[in-house]
Amino acid sequence: DQPQPKKPDWIRVKAPTSQGYKDTRDILRNNRLSTVCEEAGCPNVGECWSQGHATMMIMGEICTRGCSFCNVMTGKPNALDAFEPGRVAHAVQKLGLKHVVITSVDRDDLDDGGAEHFAQTIRAIRHRSPNSTIEVLTPDFLKSKPGALETVVAARPDVFNHNLETVPGLYPSVRPGARYFHSLRLLQRVKELDPTMFTKSGIMVGLGEDRQAVLQVMDDMRAADVDFITIGQYLQPTSKHHRVDRFVTPDEFKSYEKAAYGKGFLMVSATPLTRSSYHAGDDFAQLRDA
Ligand code: SF4
Ligand code: SF4
Repeated sequence: DQPQPKKPDWIRVKAPTSQGYKDTRDILRNNRLSTVCEEAGCPNVGECWSQGHATMMIMGEICTRGCSFCNVMTGKPNALDAFEPGRVAHAVQKLGLKHVVITSVDRDDLDDGGAEHFAQTIRAIRHRSPNSTIEVLTPDFLKSKPGALETVVAARPDVFNHNLETVPGLYPSVRPGARYFHSLRLLQRVKELDPTMFTKSGIMVGLGEDRQAVLQVMDDMRAADVDFITIGQYLQPTSKHHRVDRFVTPDEFKSYEKAAYGKGFLMVSATPLTRSSYHAGDDFAQLRDA
């Protein structure tokens, strides 16, 4: 195996120590909620949690897929917890979130892929926090019965996010079990179902893709009417995961950002530490108030 490239100094992670971080952690623990912030070992956790911003992961901590970049456990998931939507809604209210991002593991074991559970969670949050905006970051519902996507869209999240994760050429090694064009079509279908809903997608870079392929992904997303894009550096969670091919420089990220705005995305986040949910609320508020 080739050695990993050394982490450059623009990937800096501050240790989480603030009181705000601890308050967020306590609210999440008290409501027995999982977050992708912790599961994915996100480098922004200190910053996000100190501002009360967390991305909750519903439907358990065990995923039916095994993407090679992801630190979530693969296996047979537990039964759904009918009280979870209520606990999420309670935590959102306690945290006083203006914008909440809800994501989940993949649930290929369920007929609807967990779509109804997503919808219940959206409704529960709306009920308790009618002024919060809600973003869902969903699985691809590839193995679900027809109607799953429609169920989530009918619950009317403000932003529908589904990540393409990488360029199509790397799907077999990075996202086995998923299909690039299925995911694109899913994003397009959301827009067809509700043209007023914002759609969002993202990729990681540094996995071995080249610039041309990234630009092509942007074109594909725009052809599917995707509004927002996120591009961030892939970081290897453990030595068993996909290796980092290289660290993309801040200047290259700037150039991706420029290209993306040029292609007509309404909101672009492209920095080394960008994650799908990084500053999601601020960006959305800016756009909404513009
Ligand atoms: Fe959590 Fe997203 Fe912030 Fe990372 S960027 S800590 S996943 S909210
Ligand atoms: Fe991780 Fe999502 Fe892939 Fe599951 S489907 S392994 S949670 S990235």
